[in-house]
Amino acid sequence: MHTKTSKPRSAPKSAPQADIQTVSVITLGCSKNTTDSEILMGMIQAHGMNFTTAREADAVIINTCGFIDKAKEESIETIFEAIRQKEELAGEGKTQKLIVAGCLSQRYGDDLKQEMPQVDHFFGESDFENVVKSLTPNFKYSLLGERVITTSPHYSYLKISEGCDNPCSFCAIPLIRGGHRSRPAEKLVEEANFLVSKGVKEIVLIAQDLTDYGRDLTGKRGLADLLGNLSDVRGLEWLRLMYAFPSKFPRDILPVIAERENICKYLDMPLQHASTNVLKSMRRGITRKTTEGLLDEIRNAVPGIALRTTFIVGYPSETEADFEELCDFVREQRFDRVGAFEYSQEDDTYSYILGDPIPAEVKQERAARLMAIQREISLEKNEAKVGKRFKILIDQTFTDEQGNLEYQGRSESDAPEVDNEVFLKSTRPLQTGDMVLAEIYDAAEYDLFGEVV
Ligand code: SF4
Repeated sequence: MHTKTSKPRSAPKSAPQADIQTVSVITLGCSKNTTDSEILMGMIQAHGMNFTTAREADAVIINTCGFIDKAKEESIETIFEAIRQKEELAGEGKTQKLIVAGCLSQRYGDDLKQEMPQVDHFFGESDFENVVKSLTPNFKYSLLGERVITTSPHYSYLKISEGCDNPCSFCAIPLIRGGHRSRPAEKLVEEANFLVSKGVKEIVLIAQDLTDYGRDLTGKRGLADLLGNLSDVRGLEWLRLMYAFPSKFPRDILPVIAERENICKYLDMPLQHASTNVLKSMRRGITRKTTEGLLDEIRNAVPGIALRTTFIVGYPSETEADFEELCDFVREQRFDRVGAFEYSQEDDTYSYILGDPIPAEVKQERAARLMAIQREISLEKNEAKVGKRFKILIDQTFTDEQGNLEYQGRSESDAPEVDNEVFLKSTRPLQTGDMVLAEIYDAAEYDLFGEVV
């Protein structure tokens, strides 16, 4: 979980005046929330308001996350922090409007209203219009504005659908975001062209379930066609796929990934577990055997593909034997990137009735054991890259202790914000967003060190 605060930007001159001049948007949670905030900021900017820091702003908007306990706690802490600031500023004679939106508010809005009367408005997820209406009396539907890119300017997320139709027992997302709705392909290609026109080199495709794209539009899965259309966008260097769902996986995307140079040989596919007993209770619609078959197919169809996945440990019915099976699976499959989450018992989900019998310390210990296995695999895989050359996208520049300019970037096998980093030396100055070729001379568990060639 991470928080981002928007920086000051000037509003287009033609926009109508509003009684609130400055706004701060605080985004919590996942990349899907990031894109929601960016669309909302586009509308706010189009209505003549500027962005500034939370302390300076006339209005503060918190786009919350309500996915699991840890995320909910962070959202609630952030709201209380904003309430304290609002009261402090009121003491200095400044009236600050406080708005809470997003998944936590969508899920628990009525309870939050009771507990936090200091908050001026609570809105659900993607309720952009009403948020803007609460900021200005001059709301105009026509003023959608341009999405404001809040990530580094050279990569951006593109959300291809909203909601999810899968029945995973532990997951509250369908309760928060509703059923699966694909965005029209032409709109997505238009947005991809817009992002590239703004200097974006890498587009990261996101959704709750990327692989279900198009089924609600045409009755059949259309991700393969969409990938082809997006890959044709001129100037797009990297197209990355995240949040694929394993069961009913659309195999027709594999040759598209393999053939298209600007589609990253990378796939993020949360598997959640490997024990067929646990997968069954999780209602994942797949067994260990079919998962292994799918992984073999993906690796054969796209040689050298980097696979990222995430697992849940401490699921109510997970026995020590189930967990050992998961560890064996991770040792055998040697994923490139792995994340581990501790099970969080979520209201109104299918698995809620199973209770939460596994103690927190056991969950933590299992997550640590799983990540210890992965750390060794990650180091071995990184060491195997020493002496080899890779295309690296520069994310940022910094100065080392000796005052030398150094660069941090990512390879095709690294998604922004969640995967490994590559630290580079270069005899020539580089800019963020540059795509360079580098030779790796050293490796650590989660980082690589290289020289630009
Ligand atoms: S596919 Fe993902 S978002 Fe959908 S129900 Fe399963 S875990 Fe939740």
